[in-house]
Amino acid sequence: MKYDFTIQKTETPKSKPDPDGLKFGEVFTDHMFIMEYDAGEGWHDGRIVPYGPLSLDPAAAVLHYGQEMFEGLKAYRTPEGRVQLFRPYMNAERVRASNERICMPDVDTELFISAIKTLVHLERDWIPDKQGTSLYVRPFIIAREAFLGVRPSNRYLFLIICSPVGAYYRSAGGGLAPTSIYVEDEYVRAAAGGVGYAKVGGNYAASLKAQQRANSLGCEQVLWLDAVEHSYVEEIGTSNAFFVIDDEVVTPPLLGTILPGVTRASVIELLRMWGIAVSERRLRISDVVKAAEEGRLKEVFASGTAAVISPVGKLRFREGIVTVRDGEVGELSKRLYDTLYGIQTGALVDDMGWTVEV
Ligand SMILES: *Cc1c(COP(=O)(O)O)cnc(C)c1O
Repeated sequence: MKYDFTIQKTETPKSKPDPDGLKFGEVFTDHMFIMEYDAGEGWHDGRIVPYGPLSLDPAAAVLHYGQEMFEGLKAYRTPEGRVQLFRPYMNAERVRASNERICMPDVDTELFISAIKTLVHLERDWIPDKQGTSLYVRPFIIAREAFLGVRPSNRYLFLIICSPVGAYYRSAGGGLAPTSIYVEDEYVRAAAGGVGYAKVGGNYAASLKAQQRANSLGCEQVLWLDAVEHSYVEEIGTSNAFFVIDDEVVTPPLLGTILPGVTRASVIELLRMWGIAVSERRLRISDVVKAAEEGRLKEVFASGTAAVISPVGKLRFREGIVTVRDGEVGELSKRLYDTLYGIQTGALVDDMGWTVEV
């Protein structure tokens, strides 16, 4: 390996959580990866240390102007006990795009992958293997220079933490549970020319208000509309959106306002391989409502690392409620979930070359 990281093991390992009670991102493993960047020196001193608080100058740029990016991917344990990641090279590419947009230094792909592999290998006993569970890996970079001017920082920290997580949105029987989605037609997530395509912290602070409104109306997530006309569908919370109308699967195109999801790309590739028509095109919410009224809206689902595929049972738009398939899980949602989750966990053979062994 080109990169060699020092490892300082914890002297006080934690006890592992009960796999039945796992939620999302509440428990963290024993160690974390940390690497420093200084202008003129580049990335240096990559190391694994016991998980714990950071020491930051109160003037650190990230605390004031939010110069921060993050990633999210999962490690799974296969039935034979191997450990694998799902398409981490796509995350590495996205790091490049996010960093470039907010003027942070590039992270070499091999550095990114080696750091993840080294940490996940050390924490392999933390990977739960119960159905629907996995080890969520969260790489992130923060600006740490103590300076109150608004300009790119000269110092950064690259960190990776890991969290054993459970299944998202599950029915009592353990199956996929359709969600209720609130269509937000006032607040927006991202405008063209902004940072919508980058996985940067500020996007998520800006989304909280709408998420709160969705929750207060009994919905799990927000469906975002475009920032100009408040008319075209964009994304569902922190996942990408798909609409099955007649025999066509429609998903919004990557025009700079939505996040280019790894799961989204994988869904599109699978659909094409299966000979199902899939279009990346703009779609008005009014056309979704109309299709539902005419009985042509067959399925709606969201795609993302956390939930993989999450079928939508209800859309709440203004005063109306659109019910999708009477709130049942659609065949395509189920087939995509089973295929993706099967490949991710090694239960299915990975003909696509998507998994990377740790
Ligand atoms: C992370 C994220 C997604 C999903 O991307 P995946 O790579 O599939 O996990 C979609 N939308 C937003 C806003 C996101 O932050």
